[in-house]
Amino acid sequence: MARYVDQPSREEIAEISGIDPGEVVRFDHNTSPFHPEWAVPLAIEQTSWLNEYPGADYLPLRQAASAFVGLDVDHIVSGAGIDELILMAAQALLEPGGRAAAVTPTYPLQRVASINRGAELRELKLAAPDFTPDDEGLLELARDADLLWLTVPANPVGDRMSDDLIAAAIAATDGVVVIDAAYAEIAGDHWAEWVEGDHNLVVLRTLSKAFNLAGARVGYAMGHPSLIDRLDAVRAPGGISSLSAALGVAALEDVPALERTVEALLSYRRDLASGLTELGWRVLPSHTNFLLCEVGPQAHEIADRTLAQGMIVRTFGKDEPLGDYLRITVRNPAENARLLAVLS
Ligand code: PMP
Repeated sequence: MARYVDQPSREEIAEISGIDPGEVVRFDHNTSPFHPEWAVPLAIEQTSWLNEYPGADYLPLRQAASAFVGLDVDHIVSGAGIDELILMAAQALLEPGGRAAAVTPTYPLQRVASINRGAELRELKLAAPDFTPDDEGLLELARDADLLWLTVPANPVGDRMSDDLIAAAIAATDGVVVIDAAYAEIAGDHWAEWVEGDHNLVVLRTLSKAFNLAGARVGYAMGHPSLIDRLDAVRAPGGISSLSAALGVAALEDVPALERTVEALLSYRRDLASGLTELGWRVLPSHTNFLLCEVGPQAHEIADRTLAQGMIVRTFGKDEPLGDYLRITVRNPAENARLLAVLS
């Protein structure tokens, strides 16, 4: 069995650095520095219903997602974040012995879910310095796959493959393309027209990033109703708490807050990229709320230094192609300044 390996918890980081857990800042999980202002009253209201199960069809949540993306509700299934939707997609769309494919490095759970389903995983390995997929390599991967995972925009690189290449991969495969679109709102991607046009496409969306709700665990998948029905068949009836589902509805209906978040993150990203470039690092172009930086062989020492100050950045295995790189989440200006102060 394969297993997802997570980063240290807030409490562990506080212990390592000897600071209060409230002082810890995560630059590793690509979460948002903002808090939804309606969360507290809404949570209090929801306590009246905590003795009951959420409705297993999660219709209010799916309707809110349907209105947000502009697709009929039968094109939407809910999940406890993209994490649960990745596990559902692997379960529903792969057979043991089947062929999964991914462009790597990518979000590790895509691999874990494929392997644990008993499928074989074929990889198109990206290489320095730009970590962009070559077109023919991707199409060859697509042709042979029952399920092709694409991460758009990419993680951990942060760039976005072209629409033409995505369309060519969808056209090339007889299988299903599952796009992990965790950062779609930050990249300005919509996906509804794609899903209407391509019946072998599922797009996974989350409220963990631009909607500021990573702790609530809410996401949804968009796709042709026949594919969505296959994911729904392997879904736990009550996988999302009623509290989280209500938070999800409120977030999807608060489009002005989403727009403010994205606008702020883009401006903070520009400033953080300048600060990191001034350190002499190569900062790769980003369509997301994180920056991949080439810092050299001392990458892990630098990460240890920030960790000692309660700030965790994302490192990669020393022998991996990204061993000399750090991935840094864009936080708010004060938090970004605190990180830059330790780095410079
Ligand atoms: N996919 C990608 C590409 C991610 O970067 C992440 C989180 N870092 C996830 C999925 C997990 O998202 P969720 O919180 O919706 O489970």
